[in-house]
Amino acid sequence: MSTPAIAQKEPGTGPTVSKNPAGAPVVIVVPRETAPGEHRVATVPDVVRKLTASGHVVRIEHDAGTGAYYPDDLFLAAGAQIISSRTALFDGVRIVLRVQPPTVADIDQLSEGTIIIGFMNATNNLPAVARMRDRKITAFALEFVPRITRAQSMDALSSQATAAGYTAAVLGADNCPKFLPMLTTAAGTIRPATVLILGAGVAGLMAIATAKRLGAIVEAYDVRRAAGEQVRSLGAKFLELEINAEGQGGYARELTPEEKAQEQQMVSAAVARADIVITTAAIPGRRAPLLVTKETVATMRPGAVIVDLAAESGGNCELTQAGKTIQEHGVTIIGPQNLPARVPFHASQMYAKNLQSFLSLLVDKDGALVPEFTDEILVASLLVHAGEVRHAPTRDLLAGGK
Ligand code: NAD
Repeated sequence: MSTPAIAQKEPGTGPTVSKNPAGAPVVIVVPRETAPGEHRVATVPDVVRKLTASGHVVRIEHDAGTGAYYPDDLFLAAGAQIISSRTALFDGVRIVLRVQPPTVADIDQLSEGTIIIGFMNATNNLPAVARMRDRKITAFALEFVPRITRAQSMDALSSQATAAGYTAAVLGADNCPKFLPMLTTAAGTIRPATVLILGAGVAGLMAIATAKRLGAIVEAYDVRRAAGEQVRSLGAKFLELEINAEGQGGYARELTPEEKAQEQQMVSAAVARADIVITTAAIPGRRAPLLVTKETVATMRPGAVIVDLAAESGGNCELTQAGKTIQEHGVTIIGPQNLPARVPFHASQMYAKNLQSFLSLLVDKDGALVPEFTDEILVASLLVHAGEVRHAPTRDLLAGGK
């Protein structure tokens, strides 16, 4: 296996990367995702067509797209090579595109200098981060792509949150014993169901739009007052509290204990009257805020449904169990994991576009790798490079664990 050389970082410039040998195409590889329940794939035939037209070699692991309904023959027709053996897949690879973080075993198959791009979930994957550091792999974490206008097309957090919000609303409707729309029929009039969305970020807004399209009465709440305008523009009612908890970079800040009590009271009243509650509240880097207590669940109507999108980060509902659907007081509480993987066709399509856009920062117009990672988006998302963990909080975590 060839080992691309890594140049040293020049003072005052971005991290450097060795050029691809003159004229040699960049070999881009997409392995089959192996995490349980992961049906997405990091690229789709339409994107492969563009990459191969630009002169890159694209290798797809056999069956990598099958779970998302992109069979091998479509990738083949788009100009990709389909490879069955992992050794052959990774031979001479320059860039690996992934959805889920690589495992230590995956990393051990890669040569020094290989670039991996995908979600890295670094906090929960410290051994893999350490292995990438030690094997001098370069890793870009898509969750660190800054939310600036220029990076919108590569914002995989947003594209996958869109998929999660849609799926949450559909899941809520599917588990609800009621119709969502108002119906006037010969057998009587049906009142529309009430759907409450807690947290009106990207996923919450998509859940609102989907519940509205299904005909429900939709209410929503977010600690950021700016979210109110977006909620109202979707035709939903925004629950107002005398709090504005907009923190740095448009994200929410943590509430004070008094603010939390006020919020709890208003939210509890809205939860009690809802048929479906979809919770999406998150604060980056922290446990999800607790918005629905077990006492509040006891006040809900029998047959009501809670879909807790924050299940994986502790849950917005006290009773949520990640990965499980449970019943308490006649209320169905769903703690889904990896919701985007339930709409793998479109979630993969959007993710693949995000990656295509990200790749345009790494490869110049002549198809060669850029000599330096100076672009602010590359700098912000660079997790590991040249034997160093570049993301300071992850570096500190690793140092603390050793
Ligand atoms: P997120 O997943 O971090 O959080 C989801 C929502 O939960 C947020 O709207 C947050 O305000 C809300 N929340 C937190 N604590 C809460 C509480 N106690 N009660 C109720 N709600 C609570 O958020 P996100 O979807 O990733 O979006 C975060 C922000 O980034 C939003 O302002 C969004 O519009 C913005 N954004 C900007 C861009 C861009 O400019 N390119 C792209 C995507 C998102």
